[in-house]
Amino acid sequence: MLWFEQFDLRAAEMLPELDYVKDEPMSRHTSFRIGGPARRMVFPKTGEELSRVLRLAGECGAEVFLLGNGTNLLVADEGLDRVVVDTTKYLQKIELLEDGVTIRAEAGASLAAVAVFAWKNSLMGLEFAHGIPGSLGGAVVMNAGAYNGVMEQVVTRVTALMPDGVIRTLAAEELEFRYRHSVFSDCDAVVLSAELRLAPGDEAAIRAEMDNLMQRRRSSQPLEFPSAGSTFKRPVGHYAGVLIEKNGFKGVRVGGAEVSEKHAGFVINRGGATCADVLALMEQIRKTIWEKDGVEIEPEVKIIR
Ligand SMILES: Cc1cc2nc3c(=O)[nH]c(=O)nc-3n(C[C@H](O)[C@H](O)[C@H](O)COP(=O)(O)OP(=O)(O)OC[C@H]3O[C@@H](n4cnc5c(N)ncnc54)[C@H](O)[C@@H]3O)c2cc1C
Repeated sequence: MLWFEQFDLRAAEMLPELDYVKDEPMSRHTSFRIGGPARRMVFPKTGEELSRVLRLAGECGAEVFLLGNGTNLLVADEGLDRVVVDTTKYLQKIELLEDGVTIRAEAGASLAAVAVFAWKNSLMGLEFAHGIPGSLGGAVVMNAGAYNGVMEQVVTRVTALMPDGVIRTLAAEELEFRYRHSVFSDCDAVVLSAELRLAPGDEAAIRAEMDNLMQRRRSSQPLEFPSAGSTFKRPVGHYAGVLIEKNGFKGVRVGGAEVSEKHAGFVINRGGATCADVLALMEQIRKTIWEKDGVEIEPEVKIIR
């Protein structure tokens, strides 16, 4: 029996309330609008249910992929022969803790919603995150950052389902944050929730800063087209966008994939782009920058096959 037939049978028996779909196009769940079907996509309602899904997937011999808002992903055109676990449908609770300055939110909450919650509670420190389109879980894993702000400045504790199946709460010192990296980047743990410690501030000033940063983003980034944000990481001592522009890549296309005219750091989907188009364009860029500038650039987008 194929793994997904076994999964369906056992899910019906063991998790009859499970919300899941079959052969779901990943292009519906990625900001790039690229990606073939996920064999199974599951929407867990609680951390406990998520844990049971992972156990069941393991017993069926299925590989799992954790999906946040899908804003940093380039997913294969053939799709994913896996159980994709989407955290963003139900796991979205956001609350203020008793100390009045710490927000606890579930992994599937959007970063924008958490930033708005902070603003409404007159808490500052998360203005930078308002325009980052990911989920809180994805932002913790990636140590997302913008405009001199970065998640590691505010995250104090993270509760995660660890690869051994145990739910643990990790303190800031254990999170191994560095540029676009956390302890979760290197292991199969699932971030379930995080606590963010902010500072009391002025509600109007917080809103003004959020609006200011959003305006800067709109004027410099091609938000009108699907993309996965910055395609490449910042190489030490350089800016990927500057190197890409300098080598004449602005407006260069492969199929439906194009290096944005507005910001060379972004590959955009001009319509009908495939994963193969984006990968071919990325390879042209990588090779040219290596040959011309001697700089090795690495993808920031996660390529998922
Ligand atoms: C227009 C645009 C602008 C952007 N601007 C910025 C920016 O300014 N700064 C920045 O840092 N990024 C930016 N990004 C990239 C992206 O938004 C961030 O990397 C974000 O943190 C990804 O979160 P996500 O929920 O979309 O994660 P996904 O893309 O869904 O996943 C990213 C990785 O995290 C893993 N993951 C997701 N959730 C969990 C979880 N709960 N537990 C364990 N693993 C998980 C996934 O398996 C995957 O490996 C931008 C993207 C776009 C499209």
